[in-house]
Parts: sequence; C-alpha cells; structure tokens
Amino acid sequence: MSRHQYAMVMDLNKCLGCQTCTVACKKLWTDRDGTEYMYWNNVETRPGLGYPREWDRSGGGWKDGELQPGRLPTLDDYGAPWEFDYEQRLYEGSGKPVMPSPDPQSGCNWDEDVGALNGNDNFYFYLPRICNHCTYPACLAACPRQAIYKREEDGIVLIDQERCQGYRYCIAACPYKKIYFNEITGKSEKCIFCYPRLENGEVNACAAQCPGRLRFVGILDDPDSPVHKLVLVYRVALPLFPEKGTQPNVFYVPPFNPPRRGNYGKSILEDPRLPLGYLIYLFGPEVKDVIRRLEAELVRAQNGERSEVLQLLIGRDNATRYRIPAREQLVQIRT
Ligand code: SF4
Ligand code: SF4
Repeated sequence: MSRHQYAMVMDLNKCLGCQTCTVACKKLWTDRDGTEYMYWNNVETRPGLGYPREWDRSGGGWKDGELQPGRLPTLDDYGAPWEFDYEQRLYEGSGKPVMPSPDPQSGCNWDEDVGALNGNDNFYFYLPRICNHCTYPACLAACPRQAIYKREEDGIVLIDQERCQGYRYCIAACPYKKIYFNEITGKSEKCIFCYPRLENGEVNACAAQCPGRLRFVGILDDPDSPVHKLVLVYRVALPLFPEKGTQPNVFYVPPFNPPRRGNYGKSILEDPRLPLGYLIYLFGPEVKDVIRRLEAELVRAQNGERSEVLQLLIGRDNATRYRIPAREQLVQIRT
C-alpha cells in the first residue's frame, strides 16, 4: 500500500476516438527500438477484441488472495508493426491504395478498422486504456526479481529496468495486459503515469493532449482533487473489470444510455442504446446505479437546476481537470 495514490478518471461520453492521446504517449515514451508494437496508451472500440486481442479473457489478477494463471499474448495478438509503401504512391502514380506491409491481421484498434454495419443493432463507444497503477498489482506480486515496485509517495507502479530479467511473469499476471516486452533490451516495460511530468507540475501527456478534455487527474485521497470527487463523493466513475481483484486506480464515467433508435434513426425504441449486460460485463453491476445517478443529474440540469457533477464533467479548464501537488505537498494531504 502507498501513502497516497494518483488516479485518473476518463469520461467515456466524451471520447472521440481520435487517438491523439495514443500518439502523444507513443512519441514521448515508445518511440525507441523494440517498442514499435507497444501502445502504453491505447484506445479501443467496444465491443471488440481489444489490444492485445482478447486481453480481457487472458487470465491473471487475483482470486481468493491467490494470483491467477494468465496467458502471454503473441505479437499477432498485438498486431505486428507495419510500414506503408509510400514510394509506390508518390512516384509510380499507380492510383492503387497505399498498402501496409506485412499484411496486418491485428492492430491497436483493429476492431475499428474491420468493423461492419449491422442494421439497427449497431452500437459502439471508445475505451481508452493505460496501466491502472493498481492498489494490489498482480504484476508486482508475480515478479520473482522484485523488479516491480509501487511508489510509496503516490502509488505509481514502475519497473526497475536494472533488476528486470525479462521473465515476463508480470505480463501473464496483469489482467489488463498493460505490460509489454522489449525484444531489443530484453526487459519488460509499462506506462509510468508520466511521473517525470507530474514531478515537474505537468499533467500526463495523454491528458494534456486530449481534445475531448475527458481525462481528470489527481490524488485519489486528496479531498480537493477532481478524481476524489468523481469517484468517492459523486460516485459516477468505476474501474474496469473490478472482479480481477487488483483494485485499479483508473476509473471510467460510463456512457449515458439513452434509448436505441430504430429504422435507421427515424424512430425511438424502448431498449437502451447500449445493452446493459455489456456495460455490466465491463464495469460490474454497480454500473446500473452510476447510470441512474448520471441520468438524475441530467434531469436536474434540464430542469434549469445546477448539477455540480455535470459542471465538473464539462472539464472547462486545467484547474478543473487536474490537481497535481508538488512532492512536498503530498505529505500535507489529509487522509
Ligand atoms: S494494470 Fe497491470 S501492469 Fe498496471 S499495475 Fe495493474 S496489474 Fe500491474
Ligand atoms: S485524445 Fe481524448 S478524445 Fe482522443 S482518443 Fe484519446 S481519450 Fe479519446
């Protein structure tokens, strides 16, 4: 357990799927040899197989206090990095589409690339994912080298690159598959929650660049932080797959769920737009109460009353969305 815990809340109602966060993270942290296939931040289209493919069904995590066996994804599950033949397009004038090589079979948002319309039953939303900097990290417990540690002052989970021997038990143990193996260095790597930026008073790169302004960052146990308010006071944000037992510190405001439209948008049906069962699959049964709370706030706002929750979720400016204490201020936070 750490003394304090950094956390992030992402409002899924505002994600555009633009991948700006993915690119910001990639340029900053995984633009090196051996990291080509890695996306410490990825945004996947749901429902879908995700990145790596079927990560949510690949085991790991905790059950009854025991680490659960997990599967190591293959490079095909992530999607092998590919190049485009720009020469053909620029200089040959063939008019043919620019083809990637090798022929990709998967990728960091493959479901969007291969998605197909399915009449009235269509629904989708975007799910941005980073390491959850869990309170009980299965990755940490699985490492026989004690190379993974959780920072005492703020709960960020890191891998000591000197100690790591590349055994990859951490990758199998993480139920969110948010650790990656670098074939060049022979070490495992993961999201570092941009701790060098935080220590400099800057918010995480993915949050800073997000045009949807949907990421909120702060110390979970800081009563003045937006994440504390959204998760613990207003209770409108939930972790992904809570049953995996690691107690994640990334939380999601689930998508509002207005009625489905039929006849290609011309009529309003009785069922919700997103099957509730799918949201329960992702966020657990509590999602029903969260959606009810959000809908009550919407009604309040529609009636001309002020909704503190919705005002906060608008995320007007940096001061609303982020609260990054200086290191020496961390000790002053009331617990
Ligand atoms: S999400 Fe996975 S890699 Fe990140 S702290 Fe939790 S168990 Fe470890
Ligand atoms: S930058 Fe923001 S809006 Fe764009 S995909 Fe990432 S989380 Fe979604």
